[in-house]
Amino acid sequence: MTPIVYHPAYQASLPEGHRFPMGKYGRLAEILTARGLAPAGFAQPAPATAEMLGLVHDRAYVEAALASAVPRAIERAIGLPVDAGVTRRARASAGGTLAAARLALAHGIAGSAAGGSHHARREQGAGFCVFNDVAVAARVLQREGTIGRALIVDCDVHQGDGTADCLYACPDLFTLSIHAEKNYPARKIPGDLDIGLADGLTDAAYLAVLAARLPPLLDALRPDLVFYNAGVDPHRDDRLGRLALTDAGLSARDRLVVRETRARGIPLAAVIGGGYGHDVDAIAARHALVFEAIAAEAGG
Ligand SMILES: [Zn+2]
Repeated sequence: MTPIVYHPAYQASLPEGHRFPMGKYGRLAEILTARGLAPAGFAQPAPATAEMLGLVHDRAYVEAALASAVPRAIERAIGLPVDAGVTRRARASAGGTLAAARLALAHGIAGSAAGGSHHARREQGAGFCVFNDVAVAARVLQREGTIGRALIVDCDVHQGDGTADCLYACPDLFTLSIHAEKNYPARKIPGDLDIGLADGLTDAAYLAVLAARLPPLLDALRPDLVFYNAGVDPHRDDRLGRLALTDAGLSARDRLVVRETRARGIPLAAVIGGGYGHDVDAIAARHALVFEAIAAEAGG
């Protein structure tokens, strides 16, 4: 059985008609339960503390965010109202990614049904991201000596600018981003390895890039842990993507990442990343694919 981390606070309330598909988090938990992927229920994480968040983010920003008092300009860049519910969600999400990482280190593989807030930079949030959950979890584990080296495999369709910014001074926390080059953010912050893809790329070409680049990187780095951002916004129907992957392509991508990582005995912690559109059921179902890939690996 694969441990899956979930917290009711993952889904916050947003104003009616907000373009961020917040309902996907609760719906994903329902789908995972219905498909028997969480037979013993979910592991509920402790929210990240101010001290943990401060390992990655500017202290003044952390304080302002936790007090739901970020400046208007930053709130606009985030694109969500940073109220008590959204702040609670951001803390639960960062704590959830940390919990998934600890479960992965104990059991080999685990996932959180949230996370992947990769646009949150050191100084502030942006692009629907308040705190950078993966950077926070990686820094907490590294500082306490649980891990020495980690690889962040970011397959969300948008470049992981925030993660690159948060971890630029941490050479042992290696960032790989595979994204649509012309997509948000317009001004990219270079990570350790950035692979920008052309618009409209389809399954086979995408998988060829991943298959060529990921295994040698795993062999070269030999990380103690892999964080996998399994954003589903490379899907052809995604409202904010520019690529053209199918459900089968996303599934093959997830299985490739899980298989190559686990074949080397490296623990893997997955987070769901982005996925956008009006059909919350369809998006949540796409996010379930990575948990099916994990279950297949854990069971086989
Ligand atoms: Zn994205």
